[in-house]
Amino acid sequence: MSTDVAVVGAGPVGLALALQAADHGAAVRIVERRTERFRPSRALMVHARTLELLRPLGVTAALLDRADTAPRARLHLGARAVPVELASLDLPDTAFPHLTLVRQMDVETVLEEALAARGVRVERGVEVRAVRDGRDTAVVELGGPSGHGDLRAAAVAGCDGVDSTVREAAGIGWRGGTYDREVVLADVDLDGDLEPGVAHVVAGRRGLVFVFALGERAPWRLLATRPCSATTPEPGRPGPPVPLPELRRLLADAGLAARITAVAWSSSIRLQHRTATRFRRGRLFLAGDAAHASSPAGGQGMNAGLHDATNLGWKLALAQAATASESLLGSYDVERRPAVEQVLALTHLLFWAESSTGRTAALLRGRVAPLGAPLVPFLLRRRRLVAEGARLLARLDAGYRGSPVSAVGDPPRRGRPRPGDRLPDATVVSGGREVHLHALIARPGVHLLLDRDAPEPAWGSPLVHVHRVDSSPGTGALALRPDGHVGCSVGDAGDPALTGWLRRIGAGPVTRPEVGMREQRSGGELI
Ligand SMILES: Cc1cc2nc3c(=O)[nH]c(=O)nc-3n(C[C@H](O)[C@H](O)[C@H](O)COP(=O)(O)OP(=O)(O)OC[C@H]3O[C@@H](n4cnc5c(N)ncnc54)[C@H](O)[C@@H]3O)c2cc1C
Repeated sequence: MSTDVAVVGAGPVGLALALQAADHGAAVRIVERRTERFRPSRALMVHARTLELLRPLGVTAALLDRADTAPRARLHLGARAVPVELASLDLPDTAFPHLTLVRQMDVETVLEEALAARGVRVERGVEVRAVRDGRDTAVVELGGPSGHGDLRAAAVAGCDGVDSTVREAAGIGWRGGTYDREVVLADVDLDGDLEPGVAHVVAGRRGLVFVFALGERAPWRLLATRPCSATTPEPGRPGPPVPLPELRRLLADAGLAARITAVAWSSSIRLQHRTATRFRRGRLFLAGDAAHASSPAGGQGMNAGLHDATNLGWKLALAQAATASESLLGSYDVERRPAVEQVLALTHLLFWAESSTGRTAALLRGRVAPLGAPLVPFLLRRRRLVAEGARLLARLDAGYRGSPVSAVGDPPRRGRPRPGDRLPDATVVSGGREVHLHALIARPGVHLLLDRDAPEPAWGSPLVHVHRVDSSPGTGALALRPDGHVGCSVGDAGDPALTGWLRRIGAGPVTRPEVGMREQRSGGELI
């Protein structure tokens, strides 16, 4: 049995990667050790940039259907409870200017349904036991209740979580450290005075305590950090249920006016901050928690993993046709590893502020924050300030300048965005009507944005969608990669740098008659 892309692990990252690779023409197999689909959600937040990256895969509407996009919270600072509403943020360059609370399980369900609609089934009960990277193909050894034999693949995407078998097989290091704190999770019933449907966040001397109205087996989800104990499991592995008195103590220490009456499920997880020393070796790639592990502070882990997935899926699919396949595949590590290092630095700092029991952090939370409570409503009214915070967490300004798969024409196209940058959303005129740029590019493939007076391309490709932007004066063009980052920018759309770039990444172009032939075979779209 052989395939183009073997995806190991059907968590959110493996599912998204499989979906994007399939949408760009790859034959995909995705195997998952677990036999059950359900597992309690960990991530509860999807950021704006992640929604943008998933949008061309046609899943954002279903995700938003399951999400709370106008979350309300009560910030408990000492004796004060400050209401926080974060419905409409001052983020004009994204279609998703809001916080989005959605359970990880819902994200997985939506992605898996989308994959099934493409005819790709998650193979459950199939465990990858070993992986060998041969000269022409990688060999994946399958076991478990439903797995046997070898699977040969042109590329293996290790999306198999913090204890990654693929990382181990590739001999890739796992650098970083383990925190001396664990996070406690529990789905509980509460009795008391807590306003329903609202997230409660308590800043106490011992750390932040969150109570979300997002439980899966009971109405409320409790999330708190505490120092590790002798029973704390190895990092990343869920521990045994947390005894009820301990859960009650966490809530009581936080000073919340509520008492736990029943526990449907609970666990604790020891946290770590680590990155793989490389994200690729030969045909083996790492993405998501297999490549990096961070604390939950700032809600970054799954989001960063989905950014990996949508950086890599299309590259694996197009590499076979690419004239520069090595630099295309190599660009994954070059682009994503520094981006992930930044995310880890951010979560490390946030986690310190959120959970450290050291004197400074405890003083800031326990004393300074309550004193500053009257200022919070004032600060929250500073829309720009709040938006900048959301921007940072969402990684809206993160880009890949200097990427080996970027190209610039001669003459270059003036202004921004530049190669490697994310294309910001904006209203433009195209085809005689006003449209949002991100709506224009919301389908798989490469998108070519022609300036108003740019010449029509004399070539075509089933992977390239061409849009003329009448409101953009000039003769140049921007070619956008499938993840919405600028790949090539030319001052003259007839510049051979553009067609050269398309060939390098495996997106054509081909001449008109050939397009017709390829279109019949692939069902692709003529430009
Ligand atoms: C308490 C907590 C709260 C969090 N909150 C957030 C948040 O709000 N926002 C956010 O972005 N992130 C958050 N995270 C992080 C987020 O949960 C993870 O980053 C995310 O689950 C990573 O997804 P993944 O697909 O990479 O890995 P996983 O979800 O771990 O999936 C890996 C899959 O691979 C399978 N697998 C493993 N080995 C094999 C094998 N050998 N063969 C076959 N299958 C295998 C596993 O069974 C599993 O299904 C939180 C984490 C914690 C602990």
